[in-house]
Amino acid sequence: MQAEPEGFDRVLSSMCTEPHPVAREAAERFLATNPGDPGTYPTVAELEDRAITMLGDIAGLDDPSGYVASGGTEANIQAVRIARERARTDGIESPTVVVPESGHFSFRKAADLLDVELILAPTDETHRVELDAVRERVDDATALVVGVAGSTEYGRVDPLGELGEIAHEAGALLHVDAAWGGFVLPFTDHEWTFAQAPVDTMTIDPHKMGQAAIPAGGLLVRDEALLDELAVDTPYLETTSQATLTGTRSGAGVASAVAAMDELWPGGYAAQYDRSQANADWLATRLADLGYDVVDPTLPLVAADVPTPTFEALRDEGWRISRTGTGELRVVCMPHVSRSMLESFVEDLAAVSGR
Ligand code: PLP
Repeated sequence: MQAEPEGFDRVLSSMCTEPHPVAREAAERFLATNPGDPGTYPTVAELEDRAITMLGDIAGLDDPSGYVASGGTEANIQAVRIARERARTDGIESPTVVVPESGHFSFRKAADLLDVELILAPTDETHRVELDAVRERVDDATALVVGVAGSTEYGRVDPLGELGEIAHEAGALLHVDAAWGGFVLPFTDHEWTFAQAPVDTMTIDPHKMGQAAIPAGGLLVRDEALLDELAVDTPYLETTSQATLTGTRSGAGVASAVAAMDELWPGGYAAQYDRSQANADWLATRLADLGYDVVDPTLPLVAADVPTPTFEALRDEGWRISRTGTGELRVVCMPHVSRSMLESFVEDLAAVSGR
């Protein structure tokens, strides 16, 4: 019997979504290509250049460098690796990375793999990083300061301009993790782009809000020389060096990212942001009406203090939901999350909680 994947009709926890039809079709066409070997697969390699140009348009970077990674985890690991290599060149033997406590757990993986010390900086009551705490943690050993643009738990954007100043004064780089936020932030007032803040490297994933097929993450760097920090020689391939973490990579992700961005940037993404944000605002109001404490959704992500028994009862009803580190219910208003889905969720919540 052939297995069928789960549908999206009750998925409220995921930061991925159904790929746009054009992205799905492109992924299938390029399934057997490997952008890791551009000499042999030149068409997909050209598509990857186009993907980076378009990601640069979205993130406010002229003449961008970077590549399509397997996801945000790889892009974050590579950003830490770039900073570590730079620090080593500058004679720093034990480099450190300062990350907001709202940073994604991929930075913990990066620190483990790359043998750098991760120093966490607390967030304030708005769930954004405390700048004074970052200042206290930055010193001569700091290789990288991380800012989050669309945090995984609350969708918050750190003060990136100030973080960049702090990083650069200490001779460190600023990495912005816009893995999830990158495809909604262009339609908000937040300052997050390379044009608005002194960003050196950025994670921005087409396979999240960008509606591309998995695997399609994005790593962008302001200066091509930063990518050279990652390059290793590749004797048996037709090209001479490779900056990516994986060797063989999926051409499906690359082609699907280009197809989605060609189709949706900017008008389609703008319309999607409007829908998702309106859904998040609607859900936040309904949850507050039911008497829950709700974290104001500044991006399309809602968190509320729904108690564990209610949360479990909703899971038993088939809702795919998740919790923040401090136990709040977390609902990500991805493109597949419709108003009628949220209405049905709120009905179930009212029923199981008796509110
Ligand atoms: N960064 C942020 C802000 C995320 O929310 C996530 C995942 O949700 C990641 C990085 C990791 O991305 P991936 O799961 O594609 O590796």
